[in-house]
Amino acid sequence: MKKDLEEGKPICIKCKKTMKPVQIKLGTINVRAWKCSKCGEEILHPLDAEKALLMAKLRKGIKLKVGILNKAPYVRFPKGFSKLLRKGETVSLTAKAPGQFFMRIDEREIE
Ligand SMILES: [Zn+2]
Repeated sequence: MKKDLEEGKPICIKCKKTMKPVQIKLGTINVRAWKCSKCGEEILHPLDAEKALLMAKLRKGIKLKVGILNKAPYVRFPKGFSKLLRKGETVSLTAKAPGQFFMRIDEREIE
């Protein structure tokens, strides 16, 4: 099953037919998925589904703790966020109001 997903040709568990790649909107983001043209069964791309879950969490808002490393403050994200943020990437932080910042992940290749 996992191998089928990686190769992008999953088989419908109900009708045993090859499923077609589609895009599904989950909340505000597009998720890669496959759909059976016969019965309508859908499978989400596991990585995209995980990202969509993290985005849903972020929409509600998460609390991050500030730490200090070599006298420099940092905020640390929970482990799961390594799916959204990678080591070495850059983000832009813009002040919006006193105590409010907007964080944007800079352009990068989508895997
Ligand atoms: Zn089917």
